[in-house]
Amino acid sequence: MLCVSIDMESYPKMLSLVESYDQISVSVGVHPNEEHRHEPELDELVKLAAHPKNVAIGETGLDYFRSSGELEWQRKRFRTHIAAAKACNKPLIIHSRAAREDTLQIMQEEDARDVGGVMHCFTEDWNMAKQALNLGFYISFSGIITFKSAAEIREVAKKVPLDRLLIETDSPYLAPIPNRGKPNYPGYVSYIAECVAENRGMDKDALAGATKDNFFRLFSGTE
Ligand SMILES: [Zn+2]
Repeated sequence: MLCVSIDMESYPKMLSLVESYDQISVSVGVHPNEEHRHEPELDELVKLAAHPKNVAIGETGLDYFRSSGELEWQRKRFRTHIAAAKACNKPLIIHSRAAREDTLQIMQEEDARDVGGVMHCFTEDWNMAKQALNLGFYISFSGIITFKSAAEIREVAKKVPLDRLLIETDSPYLAPIPNRGKPNYPGYVSYIAECVAENRGMDKDALAGATKDNFFRLFSGTE
């Protein structure tokens, strides 16, 4: 499992919670909706990412849905995170909501393809998925894919190459059907695997094997 950071303030506590579990790794970064938080400089991110448990930078990205007003601070923060990922050669975990053009533009301008990463909790269209795939990124689906209203996202999940597909919890929200509305937890990720597998007309275990291989290829550079 990968435990994803959303701010600097809770990072030490998160790290201490998972430190004794070999099977859990962490990322470091500040989420685009965490406006009034400590703003990490590149050096600070790189230093924290050197921890042996750390496998990625994020989450980072842009969110024009939940944040409003002048959002240059989000774009600046996103650029800093991409620079940090390149400096320590670790993949990015990217959040993008209602900001597809700017997200892709910054990924291109900052050469995010040098390190790659994952477009997490993907809810955009195939056009955006295709562009992210072209930049070497993986596409990850959350419990949203099981929702009735998510037909378009299921279409995207059908087209993503099997070796670029990931599934995730994104807890505590977004629990998949049949547990929608309940607190989400990693055990429920099996419902997402089931939904994606059924949608692609493939066996659930084969899908699970592929996403597992993808996870280790992306986050540890091995297969
Ligand atoms: Zn996110």
